[in-house]
Amino acid sequence: MIRILANDGLEEGALFSLQEHGFDVIIEKVPQENLIDFINSSQVRGLLVRSATKVRKEIFDACPNLSFVGRGGVGMDNIDVAYGRSLGRTVTNTPASSTRSVAELVFAHLFSVARFLHHSNRVMPVEGQGKFEALKKSYAQAFELKGKTLGIIGFGRIGQEVAQMAMGLGMKVLPYDPWVKTAEIEVDFLQTGDTFTLEFETVSLDELLQASDAITLHVPMPANGNPLLSAAEFSHMKPGAILINTARGGIVNEKDLLVALDSGRLAFACLDVFENEPSPLPELLNHTKISVSPHVGGSTAEAQTRIGQELVDLVIDHFRA
Ligand code: NAD
Repeated sequence: MIRILANDGLEEGALFSLQEHGFDVIIEKVPQENLIDFINSSQVRGLLVRSATKVRKEIFDACPNLSFVGRGGVGMDNIDVAYGRSLGRTVTNTPASSTRSVAELVFAHLFSVARFLHHSNRVMPVEGQGKFEALKKSYAQAFELKGKTLGIIGFGRIGQEVAQMAMGLGMKVLPYDPWVKTAEIEVDFLQTGDTFTLEFETVSLDELLQASDAITLHVPMPANGNPLLSAAEFSHMKPGAILINTARGGIVNEKDLLVALDSGRLAFACLDVFENEPSPLPELLNHTKISVSPHVGGSTAEAQTRIGQELVDLVIDHFRA
């Protein structure tokens, strides 16, 4: 029986499905320092991880029978992918599984700041009784998303899903992606199976910065490790614009962001990802103009189910091929 170690947990349906297909699945968490010994002594041939377990060169070198490594989710920063593949091992992930969940989180944040929910949920439990009328008055500057322009930096899977949702809300979409000039997206707004095509042309980064009421990032971390948006880019943005980062911490210069918020250049920021995870800067967490979440873009029941199912299919394809 082929033995699979799911070291960062596995969705229940996926576990049953692998067992039904005759795999012996271990879901106990093996500490990182014991992994090599465990894999070899237990004859593990497939390793499933999320982001916690690191699969570095040493594991590939020391475990010659480990032929499959699957990462549930998008990034593979925790795995030496190229090295594993150079040894002929299958190293793979489930990049599309969380697309919809991340796109929905973008709008959860955007609606939240547009109606001051990020603020009222912090303040009302503490001061709501005495300041009800004052808070009500200050939140009257809220705004609708309809008619606003959403700049989308990175027009891949998530960027395009965000674009569809924005169109559904009556927003104008301005995408920027140096590697995508045009995109045609099939949508089924009425859920009848009758699709129609939305066509998008990307614009320059500067055009996007200058014209967008809100800007959302959906790019990988640049290879040079430098932020994509810093003071220079903020100074080109519309005064009072909103910035949303659900991509990766470090893509936005956090210190410059705080300056832009404090000066009023930007009205709000929405952050799901941070440079110093899991201990983001307190100035970001406490800022009244920032809506925060703890890197939960892909953390929905539906995404977990899709991740599990995709992993099952990948394991079966690999070992049954
Ligand atoms: P994708 O590969 O489908 O799309 C990324 C797009 O970014 C590509 O079209 C690429 O051409 C473009 N791009 C790359 N560098 C760029 C740049 N400098 N400027 C503009 N565009 C650029 O990826 P995706 O599935 O859409 O994921 C996007 C990001 O979302 C990834 O960084 C991923 O790490 C992140 N993500 C976050 C969460 C979360 O929990 N918050 C979950 C899933 C994915």
